[in-house]
Amino acid sequence: MRRVTIFGATGSIGVNTVDLIARAPEAYDVVALTGGRNVALLAEQAVALKAGLAVTAYDACYGPLSEALAGTGIEVAAGPQAIKEAAHRPADWTMSAIVGAAGLVPGLEALKQGKVLALANKESLVTAGPLLLSEAKTHGATILPVDSEHSAIFQALVGEDIATVERIIITASGGALRDWPAETLHKATLSDACTHPNWDMGQRITIDSATLFNKAMELIETREFFGVRPDQIEAVIHPESLIHALVGFTDGALMAHLGPPDMRHAIGYALHWPDRGHVPVDRLDLSHIAQLNFRAADPDRFPALRLAHEVMEARGLAGAVFNAAKEAALDAFIAGRIGFTQMAELVEATLSTLSGEIVTSKPLTLDCVLAADHLARKTAASHIATQVAAR
Ligand code: NAD
Ligand code: MG
Repeated sequence: MRRVTIFGATGSIGVNTVDLIARAPEAYDVVALTGGRNVALLAEQAVALKAGLAVTAYDACYGPLSEALAGTGIEVAAGPQAIKEAAHRPADWTMSAIVGAAGLVPGLEALKQGKVLALANKESLVTAGPLLLSEAKTHGATILPVDSEHSAIFQALVGEDIATVERIIITASGGALRDWPAETLHKATLSDACTHPNWDMGQRITIDSATLFNKAMELIETREFFGVRPDQIEAVIHPESLIHALVGFTDGALMAHLGPPDMRHAIGYALHWPDRGHVPVDRLDLSHIAQLNFRAADPDRFPALRLAHEVMEARGLAGAVFNAAKEAALDAFIAGRIGFTQMAELVEATLSTLSGEIVTSKPLTLDCVLAADHLARKTAASHIATQVAAR
């Protein structure tokens, strides 16, 4: 039996992971599940998978979770420290699917076990890529990318020498507003930005798809995880979301990875790795699909992509600042405090204010990443106050 733990079990990635594990309960020993405020779902998952431990991120949810699990024998805990401790319980496979920078610490802790970390939390690589990879190396752990694009790249690279890679192309659906004229984007509301054309995901990543901040994060993740140069990585708009990524080699070959827009594919690949198991996703019918479309991503329309290239060049703490500013901008947009296009303006302003803090020749430590995150949120908050006053 494989011992598995899922961080962020109640989210979109978490629910899909639970779905796959629940199909073969005899194969897995579920060590711990973590969630947030959706206590009812967390309790239901913990009972269904006979988990050893259920942890909510919020102290205030401890009572309701304990009540929901009373008499089941499932251990209950709450708070960030309890989530960190859950990462110390021996597990062979850990899913990192908390949303936001909060996912970094549990992932880093899990790596210390020297086993497999299935990484959906993209903020980990964006904020602290070099730290994550060096921790994995030190402890002999394996990181498997779960973002669909990075799983696609990883699969295209099986048996290949990374030195023969010329370029990596990741695709973007273009998000909810891809057909809006650029000059109308500033009017986009929360509900406009929350409807993804192809993927069914959490609210935050869906809005990040509309600004292309999601793709910007994925460019940075690609740079960090695969170690290729920024000029070798590009994003292209592909409205069908059926090709997830392409890898171009020195001989001109371009390997594309296709699959339905269903995250259970990338999760299932990581779950069965290094083998291929049966994964219950739809099979593509190419004659029915008939055509696939591509167009260049317009950097004027999507400033997030330009900012991503700046971050990839700067490295150091640029990713931590970029991500924290992006999270603060997203919170302000969701709260109705700033407009859609102001999100990118805010991230750019924060990067520019903190440009002197970003460059560092020292190896990244968790403390300096967390300090940069904190400073960027503070700086972003003061920019937001200015933007709100000017509206
Ligand atoms: P989600 O919002 O649906 O779920 C997030 C999970 O994290 C929930 O279980 C929630 O309870 C938990 N959580 C939220 N804040 C927390 C905190 N402060 N501390 C501890 N737990 C907390 O998010 P999602 O869409 O499943 O995405 C999860 C991660 O995977 C993100 O980093 C996202 O970018 C990445 N990702 C998601 C998809 C997708 O299809 N949804 C695809 C690729 C990558
Ligand atoms: Mg993705």
